[in-house]
Amino acid sequence: MTDHVTIVEVGPRDGLQNEPYTIPTPVKVELIDRLARCGLGVVEATSFVAAPAIPQLADAEDVFGRIERKPDVRYPVLVPNLKGYERARTVGAEEIAVFTAASEAFNQKNIKCSIAESLERFTPVIERARNDGVRVRGYVSTVLGCPYQGEVPVAEVVRVAEALHEAGCAEISLGDTIGVGTPRKARAMLEAVAGSIPLEQLAVHFHDTYGQALANIYACLEFGVVVVDSSVAGLGGCPYARGATGNVATEDVVFMLDGMGMTTGVDLEALARTGDWIAGELGRPRSRAGQAILKRN
Ligand code: MG
Repeated sequence: MTDHVTIVEVGPRDGLQNEPYTIPTPVKVELIDRLARCGLGVVEATSFVAAPAIPQLADAEDVFGRIERKPDVRYPVLVPNLKGYERARTVGAEEIAVFTAASEAFNQKNIKCSIAESLERFTPVIERARNDGVRVRGYVSTVLGCPYQGEVPVAEVVRVAEALHEAGCAEISLGDTIGVGTPRKARAMLEAVAGSIPLEQLAVHFHDTYGQALANIYACLEFGVVVVDSSVAGLGGCPYARGATGNVATEDVVFMLDGMGMTTGVDLEALARTGDWIAGELGRPRSRAGQAILKRN
């Protein structure tokens, strides 16, 4: 196992985009700045997907323009196409993320195109980004199950991840969108993808729908993964995946990693306070570890 784990905090994007109502811009800006001050090295800031598709993040330019931009922190933003890429670049984004799914049915419902079409759509975006020296992260969702087609063959996950890797993504995040994965399956999936993509370029992204996220992360850490996605206070879900609860909470992940003697650079107390604050703003439950940490003080 590695000594250092990079946490990719996805709360301000993956989390907030799935909240049922719109959050004021200053709250988003404060959330990102507070997360960066907690010691998180990567904070996914917002999404440049067209406003009608994701109204919660329609203020992307405004948010990105107002955040503090600490020099030692990366602030990737989600982009759907070249137009989104240009919007992101106009406000100074230096890292982007693109997305597709390992399930054909999910892609059709979610982004209204086939996997092949989505890869075609992203190829020029990735190419352009690479020419501009912009780092690209690729998301593959439904890697352990799909709400529409059920089982997702591991070979499909490998094929899609390879395509993103070959197109030039520096990192591929493997997402269990509906949270149905269990540790052995999670590890086997990671192992299969790591057969053709270097492990240090892979990230895991688990949802806690069935309470399996930490166990899955542990199984993947044992295999050697060094990048883990998580969301403060467990913000998020998936609007297209019914029943999917939040992303694994960053507080829970950091508590586990700290306890195992792994470093993350994150100040857990400050993170718990940030999680408590944003959960209060959104009227949603606190993460378990976050709550416990605040109570003991
Ligand atoms: Mg997620």
